[in-house]
Amino acid sequence: MDADAVVVGAGLAGLVATCELADAGRSVVLLDQESEANLGGQAWWSFGGLFLVDSPEQRRMGISDSLELAWQDWQGTAGWDRLTNPDGSPGPDHWGQQWGRAYVEWAAGEKRSWLRERGISFFPVVGWAERGDGTSGGHGNSVPRFHIPWGTGTGVVAPFEQRVRDHIAAGRVIYRPRHRVDQLVRSSGVVTGVRGSVLAPDSSPRGVASNRDVEGEFEYGGQAVVVTSGGIGGNHDLVRANWPQRLGEAPTDMLTGVPAYVDGRMLAITEAAGGAVVNRDRMWHYVEGVRNWDPVWPGHAIRILAGPSAMWFDGRGDRLPAPYFPGFDTLGTLDHLQHTGVEHSWFILNRALAGKEFALSGSEQNLDLTQRRYRDVLKRPITAVQPSVQAFLDHGEDWLTADTIGELVAKMNELTPHAPLDPAHIERQIVERDRQVDNAYTKDAQVAAIRVARGYRGDKLTKRAFPLHRILDPKRGPLVAVRLRVLSRKTLGGLHTDLTGRVLDPLGEPVPGLYAAGEVSGFGGGGVHGYRALEGTFVGGCLFSGRAAGRAAAAATA
Ligand SMILES: Cc1cc2nc3c(=O)[nH]c(=O)nc-3n(C[C@H](O)[C@H](O)[C@H](O)COP(=O)(O)OP(=O)(O)OC[C@H]3O[C@@H](n4cnc5c(N)ncnc54)[C@H](O)[C@@H]3O)c2cc1C
Repeated sequence: MDADAVVVGAGLAGLVATCELADAGRSVVLLDQESEANLGGQAWWSFGGLFLVDSPEQRRMGISDSLELAWQDWQGTAGWDRLTNPDGSPGPDHWGQQWGRAYVEWAAGEKRSWLRERGISFFPVVGWAERGDGTSGGHGNSVPRFHIPWGTGTGVVAPFEQRVRDHIAAGRVIYRPRHRVDQLVRSSGVVTGVRGSVLAPDSSPRGVASNRDVEGEFEYGGQAVVVTSGGIGGNHDLVRANWPQRLGEAPTDMLTGVPAYVDGRMLAITEAAGGAVVNRDRMWHYVEGVRNWDPVWPGHAIRILAGPSAMWFDGRGDRLPAPYFPGFDTLGTLDHLQHTGVEHSWFILNRALAGKEFALSGSEQNLDLTQRRYRDVLKRPITAVQPSVQAFLDHGEDWLTADTIGELVAKMNELTPHAPLDPAHIERQIVERDRQVDNAYTKDAQVAAIRVARGYRGDKLTKRAFPLHRILDPKRGPLVAVRLRVLSRKTLGGLHTDLTGRVLDPLGEPVPGLYAAGEVSGFGGGGVHGYRALEGTFVGGCLFSGRAAGRAAAAATA
């Protein structure tokens, strides 16, 4: 045995599992196919948003939340429908649901203090992601729950990275970057280690696709192997192969929201060692993807986190029906758009709205929060256009501006000649909507939703829900159109695990010696989210499942 445990993947889930193991006195070999520059994986790039329930930050914003309400939202969002097999045995959703309940309890309980013990604190305004499908018991957050950590994703990774580095210095953790696992070793039914390829050194900066030149081979043995290798979002072949028919055809023109190393290879490798994958057809991709004007990884796209006011049109020029407003129902909107026959869609708004209501997901798109430049953060509500949004307005291939609708639609048609729009049709819909804003009441569901958002102190203070006005008001101009495409991101299904992170075989029995956590395990159980997510639950899912798997593996190797 080279160590008590071998951890495959040095993203956030792998770092957390390694910390738990090493803190408990276990020796660990931590492997990753990427270079040291990529330590922390996707979480480093993430906005770092974390789902918390009934937090002091929420209470200070006047939000009344509870475990019961959050669990109601989670269940309505998950829509678990595979709880039992036809023969009555536990189905693919059995453990996912258990993980879901445990996670919501953690988010309403220990999670915040556990994070604060590690030095993670939060921006005081809580974000309201996935505002839902318009029903009380269905999809969506009834209240704002998206807590943004100071430092964004980099701030969440930092304490775990530091702890692992301390353990490396103390000799308890052996870290081997550029070590790609190709096989799990199994003898007499027990997983006893890993085999793989040593990849050639690569000095590419973080996130840039690295070489796959093989320079040698390796094998490491351990009493426990913990797989924390991430999802499939960087592998469009796999995304397409698993794409569910219920969402229509997989997009032919898909952008990529994750680095290339999110390749999903370890799923088949773990299956070959006896682990079961469940709920492969569940994924969480965004419809508000724009091509990054300054790309890092292949096909690099950024997701627009839009406030509630932009008008959203499908590729034929029809306004999306309720409840498919920006930031309300990610998968419902994807489903709707995939059935229109045109893959892209459009936001149409004006510069004032784009400047105030658009945020961009990712640590590098929010440098004020990432670098803890508190003064700049305070200036957000009084800044006409956020610098990162201005950069996209200046350089982004999907971003168009014009003074009149006629001019704007002409530019849109130049960008997408295969789906030409009728300017009169677009203008009529905007004018109809603009006539709804003069009264305190309305029959336009989106205008009503903007008023509800303005009722939330956080949205009002930050101007994330900008005061209602006519989109065609020239004082708020110029007009802005943004072409949106599907951006591949998260994997909701994955390795089937029990509540301690033990990987289960197709019969539901643990594979001895094998654990999994993070996105590769559907963030726990092979599907903690079910069909949909409430957001801020992925980084948190890595923390929770990495902790559970690390603790269980530490106990098993004592
Ligand atoms: C831009 C962006 C914004 C996001 N924003 C949020 C947010 O605000 N809130 C939220 O909750 N989530 C967010 N997420 C999602 C979240 O960051 C990820 O789901 C999470 O970090 C996944 O972590 P992981 O440890 O499971 O996997 P990863 O971070 O993907 O790490 C897996 C590691 O395993 C390695 N690996 C894979 N296969 C092998 C192999 N065969 N051998 C050796 N190593 C291997 C990879 O190289 C990688 O380093 C965001 C993601 C991105 C990209």
